[in-house]
Amino acid sequence: MKKIIITIDGYSSCGKSTLAKKIAKDLNYVFVDSGAMYRAVTHYFLKNHLDWTIPEQVVDAINHISLKFEYNAQNGTSDILLNGENVEAAIREMIINENVSDVAAIKEVRDFTVAEQQKNAIEKGIVMDGRDIGTVVFPNAELKIFLTASPEARVERRYKQLLAQGKQVTREEVRLNNEKRDYIDTHREISPLRKAADAIEIDNTHLTTLEQEKLVMDMVFEKLKN
Ligand code: C5P
Repeated sequence: MKKIIITIDGYSSCGKSTLAKKIAKDLNYVFVDSGAMYRAVTHYFLKNHLDWTIPEQVVDAINHISLKFEYNAQNGTSDILLNGENVEAAIREMIINENVSDVAAIKEVRDFTVAEQQKNAIEKGIVMDGRDIGTVVFPNAELKIFLTASPEARVERRYKQLLAQGKQVTREEVRLNNEKRDYIDTHREISPLRKAADAIEIDNTHLTTLEQEKLVMDMVFEKLKN
């Protein structure tokens, strides 16, 4: 059966990964959370007390970073490994949220992560979510989704997600972090967050995950027919 590349881009806390995981599971495709890669690189800088504003330190860090995804049988998805260490929990901390967009704006970082992301697609059958997947990483992807939701819905979802993970955070902190990341992500020089010209926009403010899944799966079947 024909296999395609599906990209899901959008603002912070729109539910991109949740939707991407469902679609990948339904199709038995590989799911890649590209944001996890930027988060893992950020974790490496912080853990090793490196300064990403110093170009030599950035180059040195990248030369020492290896990123891999490992299947997690417990939740049926994949965890990110940084130099062989599972950092899935560490990269979801607020300290990473606070710094990741600055790190993701660095050219050398993006050159490295984009090349890694593109390696996944040699065999197609992939769902990747992020900010520049439909515009830069896979400009020829067969199906591109651009996910949006109202700022209030996004804050509420991320706030509940963090609370469920036992994190001490306020709605205001989540709101400020979403705004800050979206601002940096849409204003950076390299690969800013944009809707690809051929992406289909879905506003999921009033949609359940199941409704979004059905909507996208209908689009997939349409693509697979042609
Ligand atoms: O998707 P997630 O919130 O985990 O992404 C974390 C951060 O990584 C984003 O705020 C953005 O700065 C960066 N990112 C990016 N390009 C991608 C995916 C994520 O710049 N393709």
